[in-house]
Amino acid sequence: MKPENIFSALSALRQEGRLRQVQDLRMETASLGVDREGKRYIVFNSNDYLGMTHAKEVQEAAKAVRFGTGSGGARLTSGAAFELSNLEKEIADFKHTEDAVIFNTGYMANLGVLYALAGKGDVIFSDELNHASIVDGCRISKAETAVYRHSDMADLERLLQTVPCEGQRFIVTDGVFSMDGDICPLPALAVLKKDYGACLIVDDAHASGVIGRTGRGTAEYFRMAGVDVQVGTLSKAFGAEGGYIAASREICDYLRNTSRPFIFSTAISAVTGAAALAALRLLKADPEKYLGRLRENTAYMRNLLTETGVGIAAGDTPIIPVAVGDEKEALATAEACRKEGILLSAIRPPSVPVGTSRIRLTVTAMHTKEEMKKAAAILIRHWRSK
Ligand SMILES: *Cc1c(COP(=O)(O)O)cnc(C)c1O
Repeated sequence: MKPENIFSALSALRQEGRLRQVQDLRMETASLGVDREGKRYIVFNSNDYLGMTHAKEVQEAAKAVRFGTGSGGARLTSGAAFELSNLEKEIADFKHTEDAVIFNTGYMANLGVLYALAGKGDVIFSDELNHASIVDGCRISKAETAVYRHSDMADLERLLQTVPCEGQRFIVTDGVFSMDGDICPLPALAVLKKDYGACLIVDDAHASGVIGRTGRGTAEYFRMAGVDVQVGTLSKAFGAEGGYIAASREICDYLRNTSRPFIFSTAISAVTGAAALAALRLLKADPEKYLGRLRENTAYMRNLLTETGVGIAAGDTPIIPVAVGDEKEALATAEACRKEGILLSAIRPPSVPVGTSRIRLTVTAMHTKEEMKKAAAILIRHWRSK
């Protein structure tokens, strides 16, 4: 892009009210943020579902790392801290898979798996509401991509029947969809996967540590096996950052040998690995302690909103979308809440289609009832004033 075109593109965004800026926020606790002016907010747009970033054990595990702050290189060339291999073993155990591979982010995990597994002659069948990292993974793979209507199994089957494929078929979906918090229809996907000999990839970024009896994600939620590749992140429920793939030993070894996002990027640090490992161990040791509160808070907040007639879709996850429709109204509602000390997200195009803008509110295990009541009251007041 020429410089003058960058300038006019920015001006256009500004005029449309779509120019976004990074907002600094220091999280003092899992639910309280402070901006640079010292203004305090109750935060309802963090993915720190279990409050692990502030858990004492997690912070102590990070502080206890003694051997260097950086990894010094990619894992195949320089090796890496013991913490990362330990973490891979624990993730595989948690996900009931043979092995796991850590990537630097969940975004890179999706790029890495689709790039490495889906090649020329293959076809990736992808849900239209899949996360951007899956969309980009489809783009950088050499496979063809067929996009099916959101969670529409008839549409997926129609494409499986009609899109020519000489090679391998892949079906890829978010486990919990990040915009609406709805859960993919895994039982039906598993049937189609079997009928058409496809490889099923489920991205559990918002599902691991969130759904399933012990927080193991979408497969556990439906009490079933049959997912070939589970993608996840360490940046949401596990209070750190990094991404992972949990799968068979062959798939993991293949990724370590062929996946460019794995091979050509310096590994996450031991500090990050140790934090994620501590969070995972906390959850494994006492899932009910964390997930019980998350479920309770999710139900509490969903009830508060539905009782008063705010338009939310029923659901089981802590991602609660409040339908608004108009983009400017969604933005104005979020801004009005922000002025009153409540942070939530206005989700608008291009993240969602025009006319379906919404407010997204994310509940964590750490919110108190008072915080939820306050947020709901403020949101309802501004939502009603429309
Ligand atoms: C957040 C998210 C990612 C990206 O994970 P990061 O670790 O933040 O890069 C990937 N997929 C889905 C579905 C997500 O919600």
